[in-house]
Amino acid sequence: LEDDEMNTCDIQIFYKEEPENQNLSQNSCSSAEAPHTYSPLKPRNYQLELALPAQKGKNTIICAPTGCGKTFVSLLICEHHLKKFPQGQKGKVVFFAIQLPVYEQQKSVFAKHFERLGYKVAGISGATSDTVCVEQIVENNDIIILTPQILVNCLADGTIPSLSVFTLMIFDECHNTSKQHPYNVIMFNYLDKKLGGSSDPLPQVIGLTASVGVGDAKNKAEATEHICKLCASLDASAIATVRDNLEELEEAVYKPQKFFRKVELRTADRFKCIMSQLMMETESLVKRVLEEPGNLFQIQNRNFGTQKYEQWIVQVQKECAVFQMPDKDKESRICKALFLYMSHLRIYNDALIINEHARMKDALDYLKDFFRNIRAAGFDEIEQDLTQRFEEKLQELESISTDPSNENPKLRDLCFILQEEYHLNPETRTILFVKTRALVDALKKWIEENPKLSFLKPSVLTGRGKTNQTIGMTLPAQKCVLDTFRSDKDNKILITTSVADEGIDIAQCNLVVLYEYVGNVIKMIQTRGRGRARGSKCFLLTANADLIDKEKMNMYKEEMMNAAILILQTWDEAVFKEKIHQIQIREKIIRANQEKPEPVLDKKTKKLLCKKCKAFACYTADIRMVEKCHFTVVGEAFRERFVSKLHPTPKSFGNIEKRAKIYCARPDCSHDWGILVKYKAFEMPFIKIGSFVVEDIATGVQTLRAQWKDFNFEKIPFDAAEMSHGAQD
Ligand SMILES: [Zn+2]
Repeated sequence: LEDDEMNTCDIQIFYKEEPENQNLSQNSCSSAEAPHTYSPLKPRNYQLELALPAQKGKNTIICAPTGCGKTFVSLLICEHHLKKFPQGQKGKVVFFAIQLPVYEQQKSVFAKHFERLGYKVAGISGATSDTVCVEQIVENNDIIILTPQILVNCLADGTIPSLSVFTLMIFDECHNTSKQHPYNVIMFNYLDKKLGGSSDPLPQVIGLTASVGVGDAKNKAEATEHICKLCASLDASAIATVRDNLEELEEAVYKPQKFFRKVELRTADRFKCIMSQLMMETESLVKRVLEEPGNLFQIQNRNFGTQKYEQWIVQVQKECAVFQMPDKDKESRICKALFLYMSHLRIYNDALIINEHARMKDALDYLKDFFRNIRAAGFDEIEQDLTQRFEEKLQELESISTDPSNENPKLRDLCFILQEEYHLNPETRTILFVKTRALVDALKKWIEENPKLSFLKPSVLTGRGKTNQTIGMTLPAQKCVLDTFRSDKDNKILITTSVADEGIDIAQCNLVVLYEYVGNVIKMIQTRGRGRARGSKCFLLTANADLIDKEKMNMYKEEMMNAAILILQTWDEAVFKEKIHQIQIREKIIRANQEKPEPVLDKKTKKLLCKKCKAFACYTADIRMVEKCHFTVVGEAFRERFVSKLHPTPKSFGNIEKRAKIYCARPDCSHDWGILVKYKAFEMPFIKIGSFVVEDIATGVQTLRAQWKDFNFEKIPFDAAEMSHGAQD
């Protein structure tokens, strides 16, 4: 299950018409990545209106709906800025993008627009930053597109001595300028200079966003305060919104009509009863093994079949991994038993969530798949016992799941909405959001096997992130699905988990269904034809009345935000600037008080133990750091402690060639430890710290680290000379 418990629900969906002059000769894959933002055509009036304060040289936050062409507005501003310099002087623009697809898109749009005007455009993203000289690229180009962390790093290590090298900075999605976000770190540098009275010129600052937000504001005054704080962070003295050309804007960007549907749960759920019983049994096995269960079982409200329960499992697994006993063999046995019990509980919990939102059959298939895989691998005593306990209940589960009276009423509602919408308009195209990947698969099967809906021919799109059980889709695979959805008219529905945070434009559709979907949805949907966009609808289907209330709250917050902006726009500019200045001083003092001392390096040698079976793996003194972010272990002894299997997706990145995966050498453990790579002339393991438990030799205290950067030991850089005796490839 991929989502943490999120208690926000924020639906914002916008429709933009696809331009009719779309270049049809484009090959299908580039149509997704070089969208229709670039056009040397004349700007719309509202775009000119939005650009005006920035063109007058003011630091400005431009707030306008997704899809209205803010990129084009930033091109206008940028062009005006570069052209205003007299002979002999030059401007230099930096454009920040947070997400990789947005970065790629901006780079291509800016290059097309400015290279024909004789300006040089270049980009540096996290993927390219190691192999290029940032300083030179900044020096030699007029417009530089960056992911912000790169500039943060360059300012920290002095590669770029000062922000004064730039004359204009543009922050895309500028509402992120808060807390420790790289945007804010850049602005801390800027504000320290400004407030410190530096005589170096500072660049003009422009922020682009669809929504400045209101934070936790409960009234207009608090909303105004929140927006002022964002303005202070970006040193903005103006907020540009469309006011004179609203009608033209509303013609270009539509908001869909929203509907809320409260759906019912099953009245009786035998499947849930049986699985809950199985979970209770498994929990008591855990308690028996632990002898002293401690506080682990005292976490409140961990009901079966909830995301809270999932979090409890993660918590217990963490604590089990550092569980210690004087008898090491016993400790190893107990740790492994706990590991197995907890992974089974996780699967049962997943199955309950599938059962709640989809068919029992889908939940049962999920379980049967899991047990089939268990049999195919190690299949030790504990696994055999758990499998037998499941199989004792299997027949009853089978017969319940095929009983038509156990149909999920939620699916009946979903089916009803879909049927009705396709009856009203057979050309409807739908996007359906659900919260987990397992549910994506379950709903796809349900639609395909439902004679009333099978005409929809569903396709699926999932996020790029990795979870415990599954690997996400790659960016090209995502683009391919979207291309097919765009071009294949038979393919009427796309089922997806959240891809909102990944900067992906969703293809044409006019019906959006959020099915028990919790979380943020800010979507841009392209549609062809004005009528379709105008008739577009968005349904929120949920059994949880709170969710509907939350969404209504968000609609109210949006009204507050718009009202607060209107108020701020009436303020006298000098008064506003003074207010911003006061906030900046206050925030600087808070920052100064919060600065933490450098963490103290822990030089004591520690052991790394396998997180699953607690077998000794290596000492921290044998660990070497490769290219600042990878970690290997030197010495022949370590090679005895792991086994390797050829990697299913061998790949090269830079000097590193991924060859195999490595596992704990204990045959009854086989825990995933990392990968085996070829680096320069050497074959070496790269281990991930998340697979191990760290034990302090002196005290015996065990701790866990999720990432190497959280592990504060003496990180010795890899030295090829040290390796030259042995281990040569
Ligand atoms: Zn192990």
